[in-house]
Amino acid sequence: MRLLIPGGAGYIGSHMVRYAQERGHDCVVLDDFSTGHEWAVKDCEILRVNLLDHDRLSQLLKGRHFDGVIHFAAKSLVGESVKKPDLYYRNNVAGTLNLVHMMRSNDVNNLVFSSTAAIFGNPVTDRIAEDHPKNPINPYGQSKLMVEHMLRDICSANDFNATCLRYFNAAGAHESGEIGEVHDPETHLIPNVLKAALSNKSSLKIFGDDYPTPDGTCIRDYVHVTDLAQAHLLGFERMQKNKGFSAFNLGNGDGFSVLEVIKGCECIANNEIQFQVDARRNGDSAVLVADNELGLRELNWNPEYRDINDIIKSAWYWHNSEKC
Ligand code: UDP
Repeated sequence: MRLLIPGGAGYIGSHMVRYAQERGHDCVVLDDFSTGHEWAVKDCEILRVNLLDHDRLSQLLKGRHFDGVIHFAAKSLVGESVKKPDLYYRNNVAGTLNLVHMMRSNDVNNLVFSSTAAIFGNPVTDRIAEDHPKNPINPYGQSKLMVEHMLRDICSANDFNATCLRYFNAAGAHESGEIGEVHDPETHLIPNVLKAALSNKSSLKIFGDDYPTPDGTCIRDYVHVTDLAQAHLLGFERMQKNKGFSAFNLGNGDGFSVLEVIKGCECIANNEIQFQVDARRNGDSAVLVADNELGLRELNWNPEYRDINDIIKSAWYWHNSEKC
């Protein structure tokens, strides 16, 4: 297949490209490199453009055929979205609308969309299934939910197929050690904890220890980035038979607190990790854990990294690699 991958130079996108290439698919990466990295993509054509640049986008894609699009290009930080909501609505909502417009005018009708567990807001059940109420508590989650609604309507009105994949917490790195998570600034828990393990002077902060959880810290469901890539390709294949709109929750179905993650990292790094407790971060839910039954069944998804320690080990391997 020939796939267009907007955001293919970013963390999850670059693992998607690698995964698809390893299975013989031809990928074209579209990225503005605002947060992506050129070193993270190899052996494919790169289109350097921002999705908001309608004219250039149209010029670059005109007349080109793709079997489908797997779309990762978005702003994705909860804290930043609370401070700069306009940036999130513009990039994530208007950018995706431009992309869909361009797809439809080029007769490309299959889209897999990066959504997020942040669309659910504060959970009202222990594990979050696809039909859980959707009440995002930050502009990031809100922007992704808006896109889901937009795609559902576009699928109903047209010959267009969209699969939304709502990630819980993406983590880990490609087994080669050639690509992995690098954000500047890094805001995600596992890379921050592992960086603290590697440095003499830790500046690790825990955002809140007074949540209504057993140890007071937030609980998240960590899912390996290569397992996410697998689900995207499966979602794409499923769409060939199941037309229209679908959505799946992608997590491992187990929750780990911030303190449990730190303990796991200490074991793997064989080092004590110092941290300070800071105030809660705006927009954080106390607990986010997936009910992944539907995705496992409908997508035939078979995650390889089901144990949090294997996910941390793969991130640790990346953090110790030359490329990181
Ligand atoms: N977190 C933390 N210290 C950090 C980074 C994250 O305590 O340096 C917490 C954060 O408040 C949340 C959890 O770790 O409860 C996971 O945060 P992350 O940013 O990795 O992912 P998110 O859940 O926001 O998508």
